[in-house]
Amino acid sequence: MPPRRRKGPREKDLTSRYFSGHYDEDRAERQERFTDRSKHAQQNKILKTAALQEERDPADVDALPAGEVLQVYSLYSQVEHESQTYLCTVRKTLNKISDTAIVVGDRVKFRSSGKFAENGQPEAVVERILPRQTILTRADSFKGQDQHPIVANAQQMLIVASLRNPRVKWGLVDRMLVAARSGGLIPIVCLNKMDLLATDDRTRAENAAAEKVMLHYQSLGYITLQTSAEQKTGLESLVNLLRGRVTVLAGHSGVGKSSLIRAIQPDLDIRVGEVSRITEKGRHTTTSARRYVLDFGGAVIDTPGVKLFGLWGVTRDNLADHFPDVANDTAPEWRRESYARIADSLASEA
Ligand code: GDP
Repeated sequence: MPPRRRKGPREKDLTSRYFSGHYDEDRAERQERFTDRSKHAQQNKILKTAALQEERDPADVDALPAGEVLQVYSLYSQVEHESQTYLCTVRKTLNKISDTAIVVGDRVKFRSSGKFAENGQPEAVVERILPRQTILTRADSFKGQDQHPIVANAQQMLIVASLRNPRVKWGLVDRMLVAARSGGLIPIVCLNKMDLLATDDRTRAENAAAEKVMLHYQSLGYITLQTSAEQKTGLESLVNLLRGRVTVLAGHSGVGKSSLIRAIQPDLDIRVGEVSRITEKGRHTTTSARRYVLDFGGAVIDTPGVKLFGLWGVTRDNLADHFPDVANDTAPEWRRESYARIADSLASEA
């Protein structure tokens, strides 16, 4: 809070300015109405009210059941607890005290209202967001400004690239690796469309280069995978990696993400998307993250419309933590280029 200005001397000051003809009434009024102080007071009031409500009986909130957020709509969210999905609103004051709104994957304490929605779903109110284990943000520009969380608590990120059509851009894979790692997710690099292998000398050279890149990733400790959704190769490894875990799908459009998911679970078409069942309640818009349950255990989260993930807490100073090969001077040229490009984008943010 800014230091409080004392009222007395200020008024005296005003009076003397008024009499001396230097007093601008319009300006004074603007200042009075929009001082930082009043803004802070307003915010503090909101904080205090929220804290009070929570403090009234924190043990009461502790005792509430914890559920997982499956989907977030503009006004409602779906929260799952013991195989039951609740249609939840978020307590108004919670949005004000929490840094961000709730996102898919959040674990929340919720209070059942005892009422039911038109579709028969039990209704509830989210009372508290539990601490997040991992976080994935959206970067609204390449500079990574304004990072908004979109997924919480996912364990890993499947970074899909395709050998060709479209040809893989390793610099973008490197950036996704940093996005995953910085948010606490384990990255997996999946090179798809392996059926489109060499047909002439030029493409044969590209294949060899891709092979080398994958070996370099392995040497850095990353899990790598080569698949063909078309010829159904590499799918067993994919299933084994996804089983029982929550995985965010990443990779440009056209690389074969939805084809891969369809190949391992034919009834699941992530491109079709889920149609909102909250038909009577007006709002259908979903935020960018959608979660799909896998029959063999685990879930995948697709983030349609999110072109770039943010780099959580990454600065020019700590970027090398994500490029140990650059740090110890064993990086091939393309890795050094990736590092330089990301470092540049971070520098221009400052
Ligand atoms: P997404 O945008 O990443 O979900 O990509 P899609 O799954 O929609 O695939 C884009 C195009 O690539 C479609 O025409 C697919 O049939 C094709 N495709 C996907 N996987 C493969 C593959 O392994 N090999 C080949 N040859 N084509 C593929």
